[in-house]
Amino acid sequence: MIQIDHVSKHYGAFQVLTDCSTTVAKGEVVVVCGPSGSGKSTLIKTVNGLEPIQGGRIIVDGVTVNDPKTNLSKLRSRVGMVFQHFELFPHLSIIENLMLAQLHVLGRGKDEAHDKGMRLLERVGLKAHASKAPGQLSGGQQQRVAIARALCMDPVVMLFDEPTSALDPEMVGEVLDVMTELATEGMTMMCVTHEMGFARRVADRVIFMDAGRIVEDRPKADFFDHPNSERAQQFLARIL
Ligand code: ADP
Ligand code: MG
Repeated sequence: MIQIDHVSKHYGAFQVLTDCSTTVAKGEVVVVCGPSGSGKSTLIKTVNGLEPIQGGRIIVDGVTVNDPKTNLSKLRSRVGMVFQHFELFPHLSIIENLMLAQLHVLGRGKDEAHDKGMRLLERVGLKAHASKAPGQLSGGQQQRVAIARALCMDPVVMLFDEPTSALDPEMVGEVLDVMTELATEGMTMMCVTHEMGFARRVADRVIFMDAGRIVEDRPKADFFDHPNSERAQQFLARIL
């Protein structure tokens, strides 16, 4: 579903990604971890073309992301992305937030968009909050809304960039539960997270990045039990 092939990227003279290659199969869940500044966010943003690359290629569901002829907004409508900060529109209600891109990007009718939004709110346990403003919800609830909003677009892939890092600790679990359920239902997912409990339970593979390189890319059991690299050993020793 995702093919990342010898990808390199630099900001001026600064090399942020060096020769990164990996693939994510349909239905696979891959967790990306590594120290701050190692290029995790940049890598995940290259997958939906939010960050251009200078070397290599990226193919998502058969579409070459870095081909200048590719329609990036069409691609992005099929690749759900959830960030650390939920970025809901504060002046719109929750259900309006869920309807917006369905109406304007997918061209769905109002009733269809509304029904779809309500179904997904129900799925993340927030149907009763549909007409509230984002500010009336807790951080954990807002992040669940952000996930539901991404799912409204019927994505073929979901990308997560530290979706629980900005949350109070008591709200982390409810967001991870929604992500776990998605994974169980067979969604293809690439998740930047330091929640190693989630990685152990849900991931098929773990990618460890350091200084812009993919240092390890292995089945989770191998990664946790026998990290190859010294950097990954140090990283795990610090966060576990
Ligand atoms: P991570 O998500 O692993 O913390 P990032 O992908 O955000 O890492 O960043 C990787 C490196 O690229 C960092 O050193 C960061 O400072 C640098 N970087 C990120 N965005 C930019 C930018 N727009 N211009 C210059 N350097 C950047
Ligand atoms: Mg980051």
